[in-house]
Amino acid sequence: MKISNQLLTKLREKKAVLWINPNAGGPLPPDAPSVGEIHVAAARLQRFSPLLAHFFTELAGSGGAIDSDLTPADSLRDALNEEGKGVSDGAWFIKRDDQLPVAGSIKARGGFHEVLAYAETVALKNNLIVEKDDRIALCTPTARAFFAQYAVAVGSTGNLGLSIGLMAAALGFETTVHMSADAKEWKKARLRKRGVRVVEHVGDYAKAVAAGRAEALAQEKCHFVDDEQSPLLFFGYAAAAYQLAAQLAAAGRIVDAQHPLFVYLPCGVGGAPGGITFGLKAIFGEHVHCFFAEPVASPCMLVQLCAEDGEAMSVYDIGLDNRTEADGLAVGQASHFVAPIMKSQLAGVFTATDEQLFLDLLALKDTLGIEVEPSAAAGVRGPYWISCSEQGQRYIKDHHLNMRAATHIIWSTGGSLVPREELDKFQNKALTTKLHLQH
Ligand SMILES: *Cc1c(COP(=O)(O)O)cnc(C)c1O
Repeated sequence: MKISNQLLTKLREKKAVLWINPNAGGPLPPDAPSVGEIHVAAARLQRFSPLLAHFFTELAGSGGAIDSDLTPADSLRDALNEEGKGVSDGAWFIKRDDQLPVAGSIKARGGFHEVLAYAETVALKNNLIVEKDDRIALCTPTARAFFAQYAVAVGSTGNLGLSIGLMAAALGFETTVHMSADAKEWKKARLRKRGVRVVEHVGDYAKAVAAGRAEALAQEKCHFVDDEQSPLLFFGYAAAAYQLAAQLAAAGRIVDAQHPLFVYLPCGVGGAPGGITFGLKAIFGEHVHCFFAEPVASPCMLVQLCAEDGEAMSVYDIGLDNRTEADGLAVGQASHFVAPIMKSQLAGVFTATDEQLFLDLLALKDTLGIEVEPSAAAGVRGPYWISCSEQGQRYIKDHHLNMRAATHIIWSTGGSLVPREELDKFQNKALTTKLHLQH
């Protein structure tokens, strides 16, 4: 493993750190996917938008487009500055994937795309539609009855299960979601209400995925959505980059050598933040600086990017327990499809303690009225790490960055489906943490 003893000690002690990726800017691996795949995914989502608007009333307003707002967040910046954290100039925004329709999290992007791609393949192969047909044809009782002979399965800590489960069930697939023991009750209940079979597994997320994979592979006509290695999820997520680019342009934010763009993305297995990074790099190249945010107990992408080539490294291998309140990020081993791509694209990774996640979730509520789940607050400390840490300052200097003209995007990733009483629990926990720290 290529990691300093000092950093390794901090990781083991669950101290928050910023790690700058020494391989950033290098070549992509020879088998890296092509950028064209992002356009294929974006076109597919577009093609299916009338069908989505038909299935889900909350999508009628957007014509079936899966996208979220880009909200200015200078008040969050100013509040954190006041706390004496000294966080930077530049314009701040929150990307509101916590509000993505239907699934309520960033998983809507990749998850919907993969289920739609599978439905399209099955439909074309069996002549339910021909290539040029409108995809709305797939909402008929005939199509549903046909899809009912096929199964879709997924292993998940929760949010991916919601995304895949709701979309697959809407199309008529026989749908199974394998969940780890720590998955939230309300997510299981929501899926069961839509006729999704929920199977609970003892053990962590990787165990749920493995069990789901084994069961699905033993069945004919079953598609397993493999979060640990799925290109279809990845390209669905990547399509977000083009939407963000359009929103930045509309907000008058320039991205070039004089105007750096920083993006802070919560990372679980790496699919969602990895896909978005891949897309943003395709658009903005060296002018975008993407950082992942991981819980101190689950820095799986950091650990994997420090591993020797070809070696799989998990957080357990360095003595961490992968136990965090950020259930969307509680992953011990990074995706082996995504990690090699991130090796040359990711600027770095910072970690956050659960305490910090709760404080930041409260800061989002107090300054912007945004209520999210703990995972979704992981990016909030990004600008602080860049501007106020030694490693961050060195990064700015090495890249000759003009921070006055910087744009910072904190990617918020989930929360709008979380029941009221759960949100209240988060806030209470945050308040207790805050009081505790003041004494
Ligand atoms: C899944 C998830 C992420 C991270 O996505 P990965 O593809 O697992 O890296 C971030 N935030 C929330 C709320 C999530 O559910």
